[in-house]
Amino acid sequence: MTQSLDLLSLRSVSKSYGPVPVLHDIDLSIRDGEFLTVLGPSGSGKTTVLRLIGGLETVTSGEIHLDGRDISRMPINRRPFNTVFQDYALFPHMTVAANVGYGLSVRRRPRAEIKRRTDEALDLVQLGSFSDRFPAQLSGGQRQRVALARALICQPRLILLDEPLAALDLELRRRMQEFLKSIQREIKTTFLFVTHDQEEAIGMADRICVMQAGRIRQLGTPHELYYKPSCEFVARFFGDNNLVPGTLGAIDGDYRAIDTAFGRLLCAMNGQQNLRSAAAGTQAFAVFRPEALGTVNEKDSGNALCGNVKELVFAGSSTVAHIDAGDQRLRMRLASLAEGSIYSQGERVKLTFSPRDSHLVLS
Ligand code: ADP
Ligand code: MG
Repeated sequence: MTQSLDLLSLRSVSKSYGPVPVLHDIDLSIRDGEFLTVLGPSGSGKTTVLRLIGGLETVTSGEIHLDGRDISRMPINRRPFNTVFQDYALFPHMTVAANVGYGLSVRRRPRAEIKRRTDEALDLVQLGSFSDRFPAQLSGGQRQRVALARALICQPRLILLDEPLAALDLELRRRMQEFLKSIQREIKTTFLFVTHDQEEAIGMADRICVMQAGRIRQLGTPHELYYKPSCEFVARFFGDNNLVPGTLGAIDGDYRAIDTAFGRLLCAMNGQQNLRSAAAGTQAFAVFRPEALGTVNEKDSGNALCGNVKELVFAGSSTVAHIDAGDQRLRMRLASLAEGSIYSQGERVKLTFSPRDSHLVLS
């Protein structure tokens, strides 16, 4: 069996616009058939990554390989990729069928083939009966499905999607997320999906590549990013972790002590070598999720934190207690409002978390 299942790889890719560097030394491999999401705040370089792959921009240095061959300078129309944009970019004066079949007509495919493949693509996105409509006669979600059908019809090796759902309202966006994911599973085409929405990324991706300021901060499964963030940025970006600063102390098996304003805490290293090899005294953060925090029982020993209840925030299925402790603000998630009501504002509480439900990141 061949080792390389990579479809596309970026190798030390950097990009500058004029004198301004926007991507720094990006190494990224996209596996054949996967749903890979690029996640990062606005301005982190996500669109630039897609434009380089798509051929709308050229790399300043580094290489882009497809099936192991350098395509960095391949013209855009020869790259076997298609892009779906946020604003759909449909032709307003053309019917749905003409929009979807456009890529095949410019390739001068026979009329019967265009018709057949257009029908297939429209069926796939469940718009079979909309072929004679114009874009203005469609809802936002339907337009996005037309844009997807138009991208799929040329059977690209890779579909590039640049925040395609950002213009849709929340309910429709959730439905489209499921829809996109099910289509991707069905046709097994590789999707590279850009978003700034971490919930969207967690729900759809096989793997997520987190970007910040033109650099890749972490690449991993949603589960890995959620439970084992490799740096402060990812720990803060993903969900609502508590981060308590401190300095690293002694190693105890799979755990390591960290000295914080709350005293000494014990946290899991979760197999991360950089935590094991860091010298004692290195600045780091204890990381634990709000649901890992609980009130101390008599028999609890170990990680102990004290603070005052600042406020209780109703969050639907749970209630979040905000705890002030010196200059730290901690969040503790309680399973219900009833559980929340045992605390009163200003009350002093003693809290704990299990080392097993914690993590460390270097600062
Ligand atoms: P994202 O998609 O993550 O929001 P972009 O890739 O669009 O980020 O942009 C990354 C950085 O590059 C930003 O600082 C942006 O201002 C800059 N940039 C993007 N396109 C251009 C351009 N054509 N010319 C100059 N600067 C650009
Ligand atoms: Mg963008």
